[in-house]
Amino acid sequence: MFDRLRADGPITLEAFMGACNDYYYATRDPLGSSGDFTTAPEISQMFGELIGAALVDVWRRAGAPASVRYVEIGPGRGTLAADALRVMHSAGLAPPVHLVETSPVLREAQLAAVPGATHHDSIGDLPGDAPLLVVANEFLDALPIRQHVAGIERHVELIGDGLAFDRDGEVVESSPARDEAVSALSEGLVALGGVALLIDYGHERSAPGDTLQAVRGHAFAPALDRPGEQDLTSHVDFERVAAVAREAGAFVTAPAEQGSWLERLGIQARARRLAQAAPGRAGEIEAARARLCRPDAMGSLFKVLAIHSPDWPRPAGL
Ligand code: SAH
Repeated sequence: MFDRLRADGPITLEAFMGACNDYYYATRDPLGSSGDFTTAPEISQMFGELIGAALVDVWRRAGAPASVRYVEIGPGRGTLAADALRVMHSAGLAPPVHLVETSPVLREAQLAAVPGATHHDSIGDLPGDAPLLVVANEFLDALPIRQHVAGIERHVELIGDGLAFDRDGEVVESSPARDEAVSALSEGLVALGGVALLIDYGHERSAPGDTLQAVRGHAFAPALDRPGEQDLTSHVDFERVAAVAREAGAFVTAPAEQGSWLERLGIQARARRLAQAAPGRAGEIEAARARLCRPDAMGSLFKVLAIHSPDWPRPAGL
C-alpha cells in the first residue's frame, strides 16, 4: 500500500478499502477469540438455527417448491450455514448449498463445515434454475465505501511515513459495491423466486456521518493504521439497501432490530431447551442469548432486512 501511494499518489477511500480488505480476508481467518472479531453465528448456534427454522417456514408458505437452493454470501467459517442446514435437514429440507466467497482461506473452512458446498466468486455467478434461500451476515459492511466532504471525494495520502485523509469535515458515505451486490441479489430473487435475509450493523434511515471503522484484536483501531492487517467496515444504510432492492423489482420488509427479531423467532424457548439438555452450559447459553439480543450489546445496532420476490411471502419475524 505504501509503495502504491508513493508511486501513484493519493487514492480514493474506496480503492484503499477494497485493496485492504481483499488482502485481509485472503490471508487469514479473522474470526473468533484468536482473530480480530466475533460474529453472531460464532457466539451461539442459536443464531443459525433460528435462521434455518425461518427459512423452512417461509419455504413451506411459498408452497414448498421441490428444488430450492441455500445461498450464503460471505459465510466466514461456515458456522451459520452448518447450524441453519442442520435444522433445515431435520425439517425435511436439504437444498444444494452455494457459497459466495472470495477468500481461499475461508473457502477451505467453509468446506470443512459444509461438505459438498459449491463456491462462487460473485452473486452474478449463482445458478439460475431454482428459487433461492439467501443469508448474508456481516457481508455488506465489508464492501468498500466512498466518502465525500462538501461534495469532494475523500482520498488517502502518504504524509511522511504515515497515512492520512486528504480532507476533513462532514462526511457523506455511499457504496457502489454494496448497491451492486444488493441489485444483483434482488434481480436474482425476482427472476428465480425466493428470499434473502441481510443482517448487519447499520442504520434504518440514510444520514450523513463517518461510520468507517477498523477492528484489530477485538478492539477499535485508527482506520488508516496497518493497511490490510485489520478489519475495515462501515455501517450499512438500510434505507439505501431497500431502495436499491425495490428498484430491481423486489419486495422488501422494514428493517428490524436483531434483538426483537430473534425474540420473535423464539430465541428464549430455544435457549431454555438447550440449557435443559446441557445444564452445565446454562450460564454460557444465557450469556450468548443476552449478547445477541440486548440493546446495549448487539440487539439494537444490528438490523435485519428481508428482500423477497413478489410471489414469495415475507419471512417470519419481519
Ligand atoms: N458471515 C460470516 C462472516 C462475516 S466476515 C459470519 O457472520 O461469521 C465477512 C465475510 O465476507 C468473509 O467471509 C469474507 O471473506 C467475505 N467477503 C468479504 N468481501 C467479499 C467479497 N467482495 N465477495 C465475497 N465475499 C466477501
